[in-house]
Amino acid sequence: MRNNIVAGNWKMNNDATQTTELINDLNKALEEVSINCRVLISPTSINLTSAVALTEDSVIEVAAQNMHQAKNGAFTGEISAAMLNDVGVKSVILGHSERRTYFGENDQILTEKVASALENNLEIIFCFGELLQDRKSGNHFKVVESQLKNTVLSLNAASWEHIVLAYEPVWAIGTGETASPEQAQEMHAYIRSLLVSTYGISVAENVSILYGGSVKPTNAKEIFSKEDVDGGLIGGASLKATDFTGIITAF
Ligand code: PEP
Repeated sequence: MRNNIVAGNWKMNNDATQTTELINDLNKALEEVSINCRVLISPTSINLTSAVALTEDSVIEVAAQNMHQAKNGAFTGEISAAMLNDVGVKSVILGHSERRTYFGENDQILTEKVASALENNLEIIFCFGELLQDRKSGNHFKVVESQLKNTVLSLNAASWEHIVLAYEPVWAIGTGETASPEQAQEMHAYIRSLLVSTYGISVAENVSILYGGSVKPTNAKEIFSKEDVDGGLIGGASLKATDFTGIITAF
């Protein structure tokens, strides 16, 4: 069975002190509510080690925001999948639109990153989604299909036990504009149909597909109520314990 998941992407926010404070606040808040989903947070790489220690006895799991595809070597400033493993991180976000736009991550690089993460037994939260111009021109299904076909849809069926998909329309990320629950459901159903036609129904039914793009406590419940929406990847609203808890308890 697929899991419901709420994952927070902290991006380049929160220094060491703020990381500790936010995790402590979340640990406390989550002890007081009933939780019906997996909960992940994704601090900056410099704070991953402390985040793992601070969540040792908590429901919260820790994901990295990125990793390099190579095993090791002369890649100044980068971290490898094995290094994430070494500090106890079990999941990694790959393909976020900010990585694609600002750091030139394309389908080829992402395919290599996915392979390296899988070799190191990391769970992957794989992000993709169309630009505003793609949606306006009616090309959003084609764009999403090509982003998936050029990367994860060439994996073998067994790999899908370690992959979570995150549909994030770029026009909805950090803009305050959210896809309507119907738009999210329509795309998620399409994504699942691609999984069905590639791998069959039993694989497809077990893949969690998250929605990302300006999810807040006020709209989470409606979005998460859709059949093929299995949770959210949350940016801005994951930076406040009360907001993030409000989204988690939408399940
Ligand atoms: C994101 O960056 O993955 C994201 C969904 O951001 P926000 O929730 O702020 O739109």
